[in-house]
Amino acid sequence: MQALRIARAEGRKVLDEPSGKALLASFGFRVPAFRVVKRAQDLARIGATLRSPYVLKALSTQVVHKSDVGAVKLGLRTLADVEREMEGMRASLPVKGIDPESWLVEEMAPPGLECVVGGVMDPEFGPMVMVGLGGIFVELLADVSFRICPIGRVDALEMLEELRSAALLRGARGREPASLEAIVDALLKMGGEGGVLLRCAAEVSEVDVNPLVVTRDGAIAVDARFVLRPG
Ligand code: ADP
Ligand code: MG
Repeated sequence: MQALRIARAEGRKVLDEPSGKALLASFGFRVPAFRVVKRAQDLARIGATLRSPYVLKALSTQVVHKSDVGAVKLGLRTLADVEREMEGMRASLPVKGIDPESWLVEEMAPPGLECVVGGVMDPEFGPMVMVGLGGIFVELLADVSFRICPIGRVDALEMLEELRSAALLRGARGREPASLEAIVDALLKMGGEGGVLLRCAAEVSEVDVNPLVVTRDGAIAVDARFVLRPG
């Protein structure tokens, strides 16, 4: 919560991803173990504290969708690979007008079903929690469902049932089924009593966990976007 106030006081529009993940973790979300480094020399300090494979992300206030500009590298086996990719981005990002402020190195989560969990502050209804399935389902098909906060367990289950893509949750087409319980849990942490949206309503206008990666046995928030209220 402190991080939200500081970021707003600094005039930022969006909370940086590491602070966003720390905030999510304080509400009980599972997030990948991560370190933030300023330069390649700092990678040595990471040593054995993170488990391979790693993910490298360039952090910059100028970037909204990191993967669109090549600011995310997945599946890096060694810290030497991380360093090489960092050098690569140092060369490629300035061409796009991006000057990374720091670098996020984190553990790569095992594959799963990618969901979106988040919310908006509606001028009429106040905090509203949202869920959808990741990728094209949210972006192209707008297959999402909303509820006014706070929600309870039954509301969360109904939200999932409402999705046109609900069948995917049950493991359609040979996919592993995702843990519904883990998504319901995340929805309650986001939109329930005492959840992120109600607690952060004064400071934040929008929250997006995109994606929440859901497997048979749990869910992990691998991205975190908090849009700050101006002022
Ligand atoms: P963007 O700013 O483009 O949304 P993300 O941080 O969401 O960047 O990363 C892009 C994609 O990379 C995610 O949708 C997810 O598929 C994958 N990804 C990112 N971080 C991780 C991670 N720690 N473990 C596994 N996959 C990840
Ligand atoms: Mg994302």
